[in-house]
Amino acid sequence: MGVECQRVGPERLNELEPHVRGTAALHVADSGIVDYAAMAQKMAKRVREHGWKIQLETEVRELDSTSNNVFLSTTAGEIEARQVINCAGLYADRVAEESLDAQIVPFRGEYYELVPEKRSMCQNLIYPVPNPEFPFLGVHFTRMIDGRVECGPSAVLAFAREGYRLSTVNWKELWETVTYEGFHRLAARHWKQGARELLQSMSKRAYLSAARRLIPELHMDDIVASRTGVRAQVLHSNGDLEDDFLIQKSGRVVNVINAPSPAATSALNIGRHIVQDHVGVSSGTLSA
Ligand SMILES: Cc1cc2nc3c(=O)[nH]c(=O)nc-3n(C[C@H](O)[C@H](O)[C@H](O)COP(=O)(O)OP(=O)(O)OC[C@H]3O[C@@H](n4cnc5c(N)ncnc54)[C@H](O)[C@@H]3O)c2cc1C
Repeated sequence: MGVECQRVGPERLNELEPHVRGTAALHVADSGIVDYAAMAQKMAKRVREHGWKIQLETEVRELDSTSNNVFLSTTAGEIEARQVINCAGLYADRVAEESLDAQIVPFRGEYYELVPEKRSMCQNLIYPVPNPEFPFLGVHFTRMIDGRVECGPSAVLAFAREGYRLSTVNWKELWETVTYEGFHRLAARHWKQGARELLQSMSKRAYLSAARRLIPELHMDDIVASRTGVRAQVLHSNGDLEDDFLIQKSGRVVNVINAPSPAATSALNIGRHIVQDHVGVSSGTLSA
C-alpha cells in the first residue's frame, strides 16, 4: 500500500542496472534494506526500557488455557499469563494448542554471494518476475548493508525444521513431513519445480544458471557459497502453500502460524495489527 513503482523499458533498466538483461521491469525507487540485527537489538532495548523482561533460552513445551489465564510449561518452569502471542516460527504449529488443518513444512534457502570484484554488477535489489504458484521469490540479488551482494535463495525441502544444512536430518520431523497428505499433493503437483530447486541446491552450475537469468555475464568464479536460512512455510492438507500471513486467535492465545517474507519488513505493522485486532488494545495504550 502506498508503494510507488514505475514500469520501465530496457533503456531505463540499463541505466539503473547495467548488467541486468530484461525486456521490462518495475522500478521501486523507495526500496532498500536495513541492518535487521541492529533493528531487533533496538526493539529489545525499548522493551527493556519499559520495564518488561525478555526471557531468552527458554523453550515453551506446552500451553494450557483456562477462561482467565494461560499456563505455559517451559524449560524455565511454569509461567502464568493473561495473554499469549505464539510466534514460534518453525514450531508455531506445535506450540499452538488446537489442531490445525495445516502443517509447517521447512524449506531451506541457500545463498551465494558475488566475489568482491563483481559486486558492482548489482547496484540495488534485483528480483525476477515471481511465479504466482509459489510463495517463494526465486533467486534474486540483494546489495547488503555492508556492501556484499547476496544472490539467492533456493527453496528445497529441509530434512529437519532447523535443517540449515543438507546433512542435517531429524527423522521424526522428516517422517511427519513425508507422511503428511498435504505434502503428497504438493509433491504430485510441483515435482518438476522441486527437482529443479534440489538440483540448484546440489549443483553450483545449476544455481548459476538461475542467477544468470537476471545477470547473464556471471561466471562460476563470480559467486561463492554464503549463508542459509529455513522458511517456516504453512502447507494445507489440500497441498496448497499458504502465501499470506496466517494469524488465528484461540481464547487467550494468538497464533502467528504463517509469517513468511516480508514478515520481518512488516514486523512493526504485524505487531500493531495483532495487538489492536486480536488482543484488543487501543492505539493510545500502544503508544503510551
Ligand atoms: C532465507 C530467508 C530469507 C528471508 N528474507 C526476508 C526478507 O528479505 N525480508 C523479510 O521481510 N523477511 C524475510 N524472510 C522472512 C523472515 O525471516 C520471517 O518472516 C520472520 O523471521 C518471521 O518472524 P517470526 O517472529 O514469526 O519467526 P522467527 O523469526 O522464525 O522467530 C521464531 C522464534 O521462536 C523461537 N521458538 C521456536 N519454538 C519455540 C518454543 N517452543 N519456545 C520458545 N521459543 C521458540 C525460535 O527460536 C525463534 O527465535 C526470510 C526468511 C528466510 C528463511
